[in-house]
Amino acid sequence: MAPSCEVVRLPPVPKDRLSEAQRRGVRELLRITPVIDELGARFRAAGEEIALVGGSVRDALLGRLGTDLDFTTSAPPERVERLLAGWADATWDIGRAFGTIGARKGDWSVEITTYRSDVYEPDSRKPEVTYGDSLEGDLARRDFTINALAVRLPDRVFVDPYGGLTDLVAGVIRTPGRPEDSFNDDPLRMLRAARFASKLGFAVAPEVVDAMRRMADRITIVSAERIRDELVKLILGDHPRAGLELLVDTGLADHILPELPKLRLEVDEHHRHKDVYEHTLTVLEQAIALEHRLPGGGPDFITRFAALMHDVGKPKTRRFEPGGKVTFHHHEVVGAKMTAKRMRALRFPTDQIEAVSRLVELHLRFHGYGTGEWTDSAVRRYARDAGPLLDRLHIVTRADCTTRNRRKAAALQRAYDHLEERIERLAAEEELRNIRPDLDGNEIMEILGIQPGPLVGRAWKHLLEFRLDKGPQDKETAREELLRWWREQPEYQEAHDQR
Ligand code: ATP
Ligand code: MG
Repeated sequence: MAPSCEVVRLPPVPKDRLSEAQRRGVRELLRITPVIDELGARFRAAGEEIALVGGSVRDALLGRLGTDLDFTTSAPPERVERLLAGWADATWDIGRAFGTIGARKGDWSVEITTYRSDVYEPDSRKPEVTYGDSLEGDLARRDFTINALAVRLPDRVFVDPYGGLTDLVAGVIRTPGRPEDSFNDDPLRMLRAARFASKLGFAVAPEVVDAMRRMADRITIVSAERIRDELVKLILGDHPRAGLELLVDTGLADHILPELPKLRLEVDEHHRHKDVYEHTLTVLEQAIALEHRLPGGGPDFITRFAALMHDVGKPKTRRFEPGGKVTFHHHEVVGAKMTAKRMRALRFPTDQIEAVSRLVELHLRFHGYGTGEWTDSAVRRYARDAGPLLDRLHIVTRADCTTRNRRKAAALQRAYDHLEERIERLAAEEELRNIRPDLDGNEIMEILGIQPGPLVGRAWKHLLEFRLDKGPQDKETAREELLRWWREQPEYQEAHDQR
């Protein structure tokens, strides 16, 4: 497929930046030398072709290659499996129907896919897979020039038929052929353009954006699962605002996440004519900036999606009260329901649907806190209702403050610090209260050979002190300590004097 003459010309990329990208790429290739050399040698010896391809080459050139390596080969899947036997630590079938075999070698996770040349049925939901016979043919059916790159092995010949390296250095997402043809073949690619804009911070070429705008409704033929997977990656990218704005601007969002564009031109609860859509994108960015507070750090889809959906109930609940006041009563409850409905339509797993919609439902709860008026039981209930989502709720609630009034923002932040401190203090107190000695009353009576009475209580208290001093103990140590204590007690002495 020859590059189209309609393609918008971009300013030339300076040579030194191109060569810097190549140097980075070579450095990354050297880092993965053992894997690629060994695979290259094995496949060549068997008379097959193999090349590092797609995202792996792109990421190597950007100096951000992870531990996943994608290869493409002339060998059919059964042959790939045989060629990997004895080399890989493990192999598995990722999708024989799609010609992909997975393998692990040390820390590397490898995917090897047989050359493809997809046949597209107009209006079909999925491309039909047929095997191709050349690397060039395989690259021709790829989505963007920056993904249509390969390095043939074992000779390490760089293959770049569509100027992908130039686009990579310029930071542009462009289709190898006419975007209309590409999106006709697989409309999911429109969403992938936005996903890579989010992941890489690249600009989408104007002719590609135009095609997305004109063809947005074609996304409806794509399965919910494929859309979901790209949407998740978009939201987990480093630049989700760029990706989401592109979805909204091109009209793609009207089909896959209509709640988002509907937030435009809404009015916020402080009856200022602030755009809820703009507020939402800022809340998302602020939430991302707080992800480091999560036990596992970020990026975290649940937190990000909850930040994005937290106000989707506003358009439906907006009321204009007499006197010009605008209210959004119960928008958090309505929003939680809308969120769950959207996530169900996109076939998200139940636990994720519950987590995100719960966060949306709880995002306003803190607003009753004022400057700390809650009782301990209200604080406890807040923590209990959030349950395992508490860390994320802290983030979403803190992020949901976009006022430009610095004093107000600082006051809100202090109030939330205060609430978090109280939650922690109460939790610590409660934990203390739950601490029991290592032996219970029955065991104490049995060991000391005594009847129920105040002595049992004293022994119990002593063992509690012992446990608080020394931490948890095994039963034998606790028993010895009990007996040691017992010998010092007047009751013991008395009993022994009498003898
Ligand atoms: P990531 O690192 O996020 O996985 P990736 O580039 O590897 O990025 P994948 O979705 O894993 O993205 O796809 C692997 C490669 O397969 C891409 O680089 C691209 O060349 C090709 N590809 C994937 N999906 C499509 C598609 N719908 N149409 C055309 N080519 C595609
Ligand atoms: Mg990949």
